[in-house]
Amino acid sequence: MEKATDKYEAVIGLEIHVQLSTLSKAYSRDATEYGAMPNTQVSPVSLGHPGTLPMCNEKVIEFAVRLGIACKSGIREMNEYARKNYFYADLPKGYQITQHETPICNGGFVEIKDAEGNPKKIRLTRIHMEEDSGKSLHDIDPFNTLIDLNRAGVPLLEIVSEPDFRNGQEVYNYLTEMRKLVRYLEISDGNMEEGSLRCDVNVSVRPKGQEKFGTKVEVKNLNSFRNVQKAIDYEIERQVELVENGGIVEQQTLTFDAAKGKTNLLRSKEDAHDYRYFTEPDLQPVRVTQDYIDTVKKELPPLPSELFEKYRKLGLNEYDAYLLTDTKEIALYFEDLISHTNNYKAAANWIMGTVKSYLNEKAITIEEFPLKPSTIAALIKMVDNNKVSNSAASGELFRALLKEPERDPTVLAQEKNLIQESDESALQLLVEQAVAKFPDKVEEYKNGKKGLLGLFMGEVMKLSKGKADPKVANKLVKDYLEQ
Ligand code: ADP
Ligand code: MG
Repeated sequence: MEKATDKYEAVIGLEIHVQLSTLSKAYSRDATEYGAMPNTQVSPVSLGHPGTLPMCNEKVIEFAVRLGIACKSGIREMNEYARKNYFYADLPKGYQITQHETPICNGGFVEIKDAEGNPKKIRLTRIHMEEDSGKSLHDIDPFNTLIDLNRAGVPLLEIVSEPDFRNGQEVYNYLTEMRKLVRYLEISDGNMEEGSLRCDVNVSVRPKGQEKFGTKVEVKNLNSFRNVQKAIDYEIERQVELVENGGIVEQQTLTFDAAKGKTNLLRSKEDAHDYRYFTEPDLQPVRVTQDYIDTVKKELPPLPSELFEKYRKLGLNEYDAYLLTDTKEIALYFEDLISHTNNYKAAANWIMGTVKSYLNEKAITIEEFPLKPSTIAALIKMVDNNKVSNSAASGELFRALLKEPERDPTVLAQEKNLIQESDESALQLLVEQAVAKFPDKVEEYKNGKKGLLGLFMGEVMKLSKGKADPKVANKLVKDYLEQ
């Protein structure tokens, strides 16, 4: 049976706030450190006291330009600031300094995977610079709301997308991609739990085939990627059911109750704010020149999408390339590693296998991993040259190196007796000895019982005390038996 939801299509747009990891605030010298004692990082400038003047933090411009370049946005030359006026207890100035009609970035896109895993471009409407409000704490004092103004004035970028999403999975994938991007760009730590990445979702539904969008609702207070997805799924179902029963969706702002898994009304259109935007009189417009953009571009850290493409071109499969670029730290380690070896597949296997298992086991990051990329490259080379077996390299030798990371892997392998015998003439003697032990088996082998090869190989390995290179020995045994 056709479900009601099959007759409709959801349309979703996102507004993300990214808190920038600058050392000081957007328009004052106050520190921004997370977790400091409440109200210790607030100067009269952040409080908007009479006689104080804001000033621009250049890093905010730089970070915005970095993100704009990464998203292929247009970057505006003349940037004006605007005041967005509203009253709230955690907004000491009574207004927020933001950008209204002149966002620093226009257009651009982010490539994500859709729900089926196919690539999809999400267009960006704009990215603009603004400042955060303070924080109201409702759950510490049973009778009062407490206010921490440390966050007031911390720089934010607001990233507004076009309504290009069609389901919650796409939004989830976009958030994952965006978090990866801001971390690679080193402009934000992207932690949703600490509030450095927040998002509001706009959701509407329309009958399939209809071009005109339906009325949207906005859902706020989403504190995890999974909850974003759940809130969207819930809203789509609620709106479809409403419309199917002859109702109409009203333009509302909702919050998501994660415990109950449903949305609740925060305010309806009639209570919409009038922010009385006007140009910020205390700040000069900031001019972003092409020279400046070029400089930022030159110093741009590598992007996950670029590294992904690079690894695909090196012959790695999509899965490996995706995992290797998942975090910047892993990608940078891999970059270093492949500057020491051309065996990219082996390099990827080492990172995704042996190294990652070790990191998981010790609960450490790659930055705390004791072995240098050049050491891993040396191990790969030893395996490729048949000096040690793959299992010895990723097992005993790897463990030994972890205890003495500065040691030369070749010397250590010798000490540990892990060097394989692959010298043909030395092995040939052992092969002949091994075969001579089983004259009747030789007959059987010659009569077609090829499975006996294992027996002879076992004997060779025994005689060599496990050090014979199995590939070489195997060939020698075969040649000798079949001559
Ligand atoms: P508003 O005027 O309410 O702020 P905007 O046009 O600025 O709305 O859009 C805010 C966000 O809502 C954007 O991310 C946009 O893509 C998205 N959006 C706009 N219209 C719709 C719609 N009909 N359904 C879903 N999302 C929408
Ligand atoms: Mg808007």
